Amino acid sequence: MARVIAIANQKGGVGKTTTAVNLGASLAISEQRTLVIDSDPQANSTSSLGFQKDPARRTLYQALILGEPIERIAIQTKVEGLELVPSDKSLVGATVELVPIENREYRLKEAVRPVLEKYSFVLIDCPPSLDLLTINGLAAADSVIVPIQCEYLALEGVSELLDTLMRIRRTINPSLAIEGILLTMYDDRTTLSKQVAADLRSFFGPQVFDTIIPRNVRLAEAPSHGVPAAFYDIHSKGAESYLHLAKEVIANAQKRIGQGPERPDTGTRAAAAAAGGAAADASLSSGSSGGSGTSPD
Ligand code: ATP
Ligand code: MG
Repeated sequence: MARVIAIANQKGGVGKTTTAVNLGASLAISEQRTLVIDSDPQANSTSSLGFQKDPARRTLYQALILGEPIERIAIQTKVEGLELVPSDKSLVGATVELVPIENREYRLKEAVRPVLEKYSFVLIDCPPSLDLLTINGLAAADSVIVPIQCEYLALEGVSELLDTLMRIRRTINPSLAIEGILLTMYDDRTTLSKQVAADLRSFFGPQVFDTIIPRNVRLAEAPSHGVPAAFYDIHSKGAESYLHLAKEVIANAQKRIGQGPERPDTGTRAAAAAAGGAAADASLSSGSSGGSGTSPD
């Protein structure tokens, strides 16, 4: 059963798409069958995975508005084990067309349900806004990754996002967890980057992933070649950092299986306890690197 992770931050250009594409590829490389859903009309995940504009191609629009099965829309990427539900600019219309539709917040959740058995992870690349597409992403997700750029004013807008996450938990998705806060575009040559990273760690504590994504030109170049960084320059710091992040996400998923009620066999519970699974009872919604409680409220 797939773990569904939304990648969201209403701030633009913080690394959501770079994370969706490169974490997706890194999970697939780690033999975790993965689906990336491009839920942004900018269609940057779609083009970064090598799919240029094609009006004949079916996209997330058909799933959300016309109710077509995701299975018929998902396409195989060049990366074995990585599939994509593409987007294009028609998704702009979806935000308006969704408004009068019944259960408009749950359209993506309903669309994804039939394919959950097929994948280990489903990643949703959300647009830089808190519109109905992002709400659908957060309603469909088990957890959310929030990329934050290590720069001046990094926290700007984060409290608004956390308010939204709390509201979503109160209303449409009570089990939404924070998978982790991801520090992106970190430049270890600058004092500012170090200071911002330290501030974010002290503010969010164990909710922050151990992995930090460095500013790395290969991550910026790879999209123009239509491949994730690992297929452009596997030895680049950028590619390595996302492989590291994938390990963290997989380890968190394995910890949860050991702790969670979904596997009642006591053997796995004992193993989780032996592995230091302190959150065996209280923090089932937790997903971050520290393994401690990470609910946004
Ligand atoms: P939007 O809000 O517009 O959807 P986004 O949050 O998805 O943006 P990205 O598109 O992933 O952000 O990144 C913004 C720009 O920064 C892109 O040109 C991308 O290639 C570049 N970029 C992202 N992460 C890194 C990095 N770690 N190092 C260098 N460049 C990066
Ligand atoms: Mg994007």
